[in-house]
Amino acid sequence: MAKISINMKSGELVEEELIVGIDLGTTNSLVAYAKSGKTNIVKDDSGQNSLVPSVIHFNTQGEIIVGEAAKKNLITSPERTIYSVKRLLGKSYADVKNAEANLSYDIIDQEDQLVKIKIDDVFYSPVSLSAEILKYLKLRIEKHLGRKISKTVITVPAYFNDSQRQATRDAGKLAGLDVLRIINEPTAASLAYGIGLDKEKTETVAVYDLGGGTFDVSILRIEDGVFDVLSTNGDTYLGGDDIDKAILNYWVAENNISKASLVDDKGLNQMLRLLAEEAKKHLSSNAHYKSEDGSFTLDKGTFEALVKPLFDKTINCVEQAVKDADLKVSEIDEVILVGGSTRIPMIKSGLAEYFKKPIYDELNPDEVVAMGAAIQADILAGNTKGFLLIDVTPLSLGIETMGGLMDTIIPRNSKIPVSAGRSYTTSVDGQKNLKVAVYQGERDLVEHNRKLGEFILKDIPPMAAGMPKIEVHFILDADGILKVRASELRSGHSTEVKIKSQYGISEEEMGRMLLDSIKHAEVDMKAKALLEAKNEGRSIVLSSNKFIKQNAEILDPSEIESLHSHMNDLNIAMNGDNKDAINNAMNNLNEFANPLAQRAMDYNIKKALEGTSLKD
Ligand code: AMP
Repeated sequence: MAKISINMKSGELVEEELIVGIDLGTTNSLVAYAKSGKTNIVKDDSGQNSLVPSVIHFNTQGEIIVGEAAKKNLITSPERTIYSVKRLLGKSYADVKNAEANLSYDIIDQEDQLVKIKIDDVFYSPVSLSAEILKYLKLRIEKHLGRKISKTVITVPAYFNDSQRQATRDAGKLAGLDVLRIINEPTAASLAYGIGLDKEKTETVAVYDLGGGTFDVSILRIEDGVFDVLSTNGDTYLGGDDIDKAILNYWVAENNISKASLVDDKGLNQMLRLLAEEAKKHLSSNAHYKSEDGSFTLDKGTFEALVKPLFDKTINCVEQAVKDADLKVSEIDEVILVGGSTRIPMIKSGLAEYFKKPIYDELNPDEVVAMGAAIQADILAGNTKGFLLIDVTPLSLGIETMGGLMDTIIPRNSKIPVSAGRSYTTSVDGQKNLKVAVYQGERDLVEHNRKLGEFILKDIPPMAAGMPKIEVHFILDADGILKVRASELRSGHSTEVKIKSQYGISEEEMGRMLLDSIKHAEVDMKAKALLEAKNEGRSIVLSSNKFIKQNAEILDPSEIESLHSHMNDLNIAMNGDNKDAINNAMNNLNEFANPLAQRAMDYNIKKALEGTSLKD
């Protein structure tokens, strides 16, 4: 039933509130909405394609191109074309450096800092790149509906951690969107099938998501309309692309094509890859494949033999997930399929056999997550009868970190009661006290948010900067009372305060704070990136000075001079307001210092092996 309201002052009909659902995927993204109880996936101008490739291209004229048009540049201009940015969202360089070889574009960073992507001399965060995809989706739906939209629900994988979820929210904000909820992809898929809408029913669901490049399985328990993720498992590098590769390798062997000719001839490789994908899709509804010129053939039996090892791998993950959820396979009530590769009949029948029950596969597996996001959005908009909105925090709560940045601990719209914590450390050697200042609001700099209180964690035992482990924990109860506790874990010292988070703030003021945060998102993001670059620069200068002091005996005077000169360049850049100049200066210093650090490490190890002690 559609809900129609009347503006009592003007007598005009008020449009049904529209909140849109977005599936921000690794390979493809989609946008959907629900109207009058029906979900619609927004398609491109041709009316054919709902998938927007999650690809961003920076052309040489400085323009940003997103989607299908950007994807065309993956082969011709790989270093300026960013794909799979979701894999980098909320991650530090240390998290992703092993996967760096798989990327055709430059990523740079310090071990413990967030990843940045470098194109020409400009540094982009995964958040700002994801925002480009979201902006594209926003434009697509606004064009389709002929009206502006701002409120959204965005889906993320069930295994996303806090910082990945926060990064997704930030990307939304930067795209001019008000992200009401971040929901798990398997939850969305269940909602699309109507699972979880009947509050009386308790169900256990397995969501099997096999896409182009990733495989995820999640086990959910749905009780009283609440979705609980019992376990997740998967493989971040397993999917349809691997099946294409297996077919390609089979043809290469069958036709005596040398591996060397594939390496030399990128065109041949690419052509075979595309043919392999065509064969795979063809065999979903046919028994035999023959390429147009007749040179490549594949029958269903051979195809299934090629898919079998991959399917077995996914079943191992499913088995582990069921075990981690403390369940038996027979206790899974429903099985839902997500992702393009689940169209393969052998995968469907293999799963039906494994779970010994029919599986949900009626909906388009590429669209099912976006549809569920749209259904959740419709529930939030109050358009679905019988659904009570749960109490949520109206504004984000967090603390001030270096340089006056807001670090959100409990994001806006979290269900209450809720508790969350995050670890921090000191920035100065021997630091004894740490000020914890608590803020409420959506802006990136605390100066624009509302200060709720502050206290000092005292008597931190003297340690080198970065050594103390300080945990700040927020507990928000159902009455909006916030308890903040800071503890130094090595010494056990802790301090706690109680704050009334809702006190003295009106609904209007909250609304204004939200609007402000979206209006200023771009400026805030730039200020934040500059502050972060300055913080990172400061810590690199500190550690470089330490390094020179500790390793003077193995460094040439000319090397020390060059280090100082790079540090000087960095200091000059830090006095300015250009974050790319700071990042470049850090990059130069790192590139110069890395071989020296390696030499120092080798020297110290050698010394230790000779029986002398390691330097501290
Ligand atoms: P996704 O990442 O969910 O968009 O999944 C895309 C993957 O699904 C790609 O590897 C496609 O080749 C694969 N795919 C799409 N349609 C079919 C089909 N009919 N049969 C087998 N695989 C398919």
